[in-house]
Amino acid sequence: MINEKMRALGARRSVIRELFEYGKKRKAEIGEENVYDFSLGNPSVPAPEVVNDTIVKLISEESSVSLHGYTSAQGDAAVRAAIADYINKTHGESVNADCLYMSVGAAAALTCSLTAVVSAGEEVIVPTPYFPEYKVFIERCGGVIREVACDKDFQLDISAIEAAINEKTAAIIINSPNNPSGAVFSEKNIKALAALLADSEKKYSHNIYLISDEPYRELVYDGVFVPYLTKYYDNTLVCYSFSKSLSVPGERIGYVLVSPRCKDFVSTYQAICGAGRALGFVCAPSLLQKILPYCLGKTAEVEIYDRNRKLLLDELTRYGYEMVRPEGAFYLFLKSPSGDSGEFCERAKKHEILIVPSDDFGCPGYARISYCVKTEQIERALPAFKALIDSYKD
Ligand code: PLP
Repeated sequence: MINEKMRALGARRSVIRELFEYGKKRKAEIGEENVYDFSLGNPSVPAPEVVNDTIVKLISEESSVSLHGYTSAQGDAAVRAAIADYINKTHGESVNADCLYMSVGAAAALTCSLTAVVSAGEEVIVPTPYFPEYKVFIERCGGVIREVACDKDFQLDISAIEAAINEKTAAIIINSPNNPSGAVFSEKNIKALAALLADSEKKYSHNIYLISDEPYRELVYDGVFVPYLTKYYDNTLVCYSFSKSLSVPGERIGYVLVSPRCKDFVSTYQAICGAGRALGFVCAPSLLQKILPYCLGKTAEVEIYDRNRKLLLDELTRYGYEMVRPEGAFYLFLKSPSGDSGEFCERAKKHEILIVPSDDFGCPGYARISYCVKTEQIERALPAFKALIDSYKD
């Protein structure tokens, strides 16, 4: 029998995909350059040369049987050792290869982590706004999403999180730099969260996992500091992805790092491996795993995103839009002039601007602009953005 929940998920495209499809149709009708598509978080900057060079090198130098063969389920041991080494050097940690589980991007890192630590009926706290797939992933393992609004600057609201924690709380997912707000949670904010979680674990006598979703860790501007969460809280699982930092989102590579100080380290790591097995991942893509030791610490040209960010911030503020200054990722969260995100995004479409309404991010009243686009697209779109806000003054 067809699983009705799965059918419904497949039948209803995400709002973002829906908008992307609309954009494709509209571009065919009026020309690519006349549609200002800011819908998808698909990097526009090419992968750094080291990615393609290493792929060519490995293909020409390695036996294709081993290169394309299965790796061990948790990932190639040498690759994991290289990543552990990099984390230790960069963040002053003391992790080893056995703390790492290679995954099919951050999405799989999240589904494995949630499946490993959330049982049916347990709750997962998710600060809003949030990446909409969290809800799908949590509900798939029978968990219950508990949305908690961030404060007005899109930092974590610690008292609101405290009020939401209860005996059923299994985990909290945080994402910094954030999609869609562009906020980076400050060290003070993270310390307060860590203290609250540690107290709550004592109060309820069970583990509460901090799941840190980090596909945008390297995409930060103005020298902003992104705390490394294992340093602040023991029961931390880092879900990392190379999709955005290396501009390889279609290649699907990332990992879960289980903090070596996790209270039930062995069972937690085993449960993540078990979840990967139950979900049928077998292993993360072998070729992509094997390029990583050559690419650690390298990124696509992030300066281009920063240029786009500044251009949008300056011009949109000048036109009268309201937004919180994004410090990371490649998203700008714009306040709807009418207070209604659906209305705002529909009106934007009339000006050929495609931006995503914020309701599915659990935070009505805004629209998300993905500025991982060519700077020329932003330059061409600016008069349309001006006309859009002016249309509210008529
Ligand atoms: N988490 C967030 C916040 C994201 O924005 C995305 C992708 O856009 C993902 C996870 C999934 O990333 P990946 O491509 O590594 O699966």
